[in-house]
Amino acid sequence: MSPLSPPPHAAVIGGGPAGLMAAEVLGRSGVAVTVYDRMPSLGRKLLMAGRGGLNLTHSEDFERFVTRYAQAAPALRPMIQAFRPEDLRAWCEGLGQETFVGSSGRVFPKAFKASPLLRAWLTRLEGLGVRFALRHRWQGWDGEGNLVFTDSSGGTVAVKPDATILALGGASWPRLGSDGSWTELLTRRGIAVTSLRPANMGFTLPWSEVMRSRFEGEPLKRAALSFDGATVRGEAIVTADGIEGGAVYGLSARLRDAIERDGSATLTIDLRPDLSPDALAKRLGVPRRGQSASTFLRKAASLSPLGIALLRESAPALPGEPAALARLIKAVPLTLTGTKSLDRAISTAGGVPFSELDGRLMLRRLPGVFVAGEMLDWEAPTGGYLLQAAFATGVAAAKGALAHAGIPDAALTFDLASATRQA
Ligand SMILES: Cc1cc2nc3c(=O)[nH]c(=O)nc-3n(C[C@H](O)[C@H](O)[C@H](O)COP(=O)(O)OP(=O)(O)OC[C@H]3O[C@@H](n4cnc5c(N)ncnc54)[C@H](O)[C@@H]3O)c2cc1C
Repeated sequence: MSPLSPPPHAAVIGGGPAGLMAAEVLGRSGVAVTVYDRMPSLGRKLLMAGRGGLNLTHSEDFERFVTRYAQAAPALRPMIQAFRPEDLRAWCEGLGQETFVGSSGRVFPKAFKASPLLRAWLTRLEGLGVRFALRHRWQGWDGEGNLVFTDSSGGTVAVKPDATILALGGASWPRLGSDGSWTELLTRRGIAVTSLRPANMGFTLPWSEVMRSRFEGEPLKRAALSFDGATVRGEAIVTADGIEGGAVYGLSARLRDAIERDGSATLTIDLRPDLSPDALAKRLGVPRRGQSASTFLRKAASLSPLGIALLRESAPALPGEPAALARLIKAVPLTLTGTKSLDRAISTAGGVPFSELDGRLMLRRLPGVFVAGEMLDWEAPTGGYLLQAAFATGVAAAKGALAHAGIPDAALTFDLASATRQA
């Protein structure tokens, strides 16, 4: 870039974590950036994630961390290595938001919400000269290769930037902005897109009337849920037509794939994961002394009313023999018959496959167009892995765009010492 020539211009479409991070990297390197978003304000899904405390990333060992991306791990590894969980924490601290590691190893900002972080970030981006074109809905490309947007007045805006970063998100919670309508715009240009499916979502099952009327909204705590050799401890919540919650989300990819394949999937719930079958059978072997079955189970096995109802739901005639009853308590079968819809899922599986992209996240069929964030075909459980990958791919796509344009990137520097102090 000669000092006299105008700076190159990049269009970032989508102002979520991935797009804003790409805008920051580009803006720091002297690129004139415009962020286009169809919504009247930016980062709406990030703000929604903040309602749950904003689990930014996870503190576990890096090698374990990358396995969370399953089949997409080989493609994502170099990008997460280049923008690691500790870099994300340092970046957050650099915006005045201290972070901490929760008891589960998850990382949160101390403010436990996203709004102060987003506010400080947008101010920083404005300082870098990043422009925001809100209420601009991307409609694809015209015959001359211009990006086309419709603005709030219904008018058409056409622009031809030097580089384009697509960061339009997945298709969950469409009212927050990401509705997945980009899939058609890309397939029209001959780009393969893996169909968008719910990830980290609830499941449906036909509860009895008793379960529905008495336990809807009730959490099952400290259970261990298992399916297909994997076990997740945590909370599950009964809904009117099924089950959701952190422990369910942890198994949701496997359960979803099994239901798609077989029509149903049987989850097993260990209601007393801290007790061995023998220890539990011993407790259940004490005389009942005229107690009702519910009172006996509550006292001898410390089961909650919901736990007892789940037992009855799976076996209306409970086994009388202590060892058999203990086996049931430690593996209550629950047959799930469907997945909850994509619009209420935490995240989206499917998207632009890595085979359509080069190692810099540029579309092979559309040179100069890069893809970042949840638009890409990867999925991961909750625990901070979603935001980490959104941020890291935003950095990678921007660096790819800089390399493509032959612009040296101003390396992002983080105050790692400050991040370490907070750990
Ligand atoms: C309830 C909830 C809680 C969550 N909690 C966490 C959490 O604690 N930790 C975690 O790691 N992850 C969490 N996530 C997931 C995380 O928020 C997402 O993975 C992340 O926001 C994805 O970032 P993104 O930039 O790829 O997409 P998005 O954040 O979805 O941003 C995409 C942007 O593109 C814009 N856009 C879409 N289509 C168009 C168009 N045609 N024209 C113009 N603009 C368009 C949208 O308006 C949006 O602003 C949560 C998600 C939900 C729904």
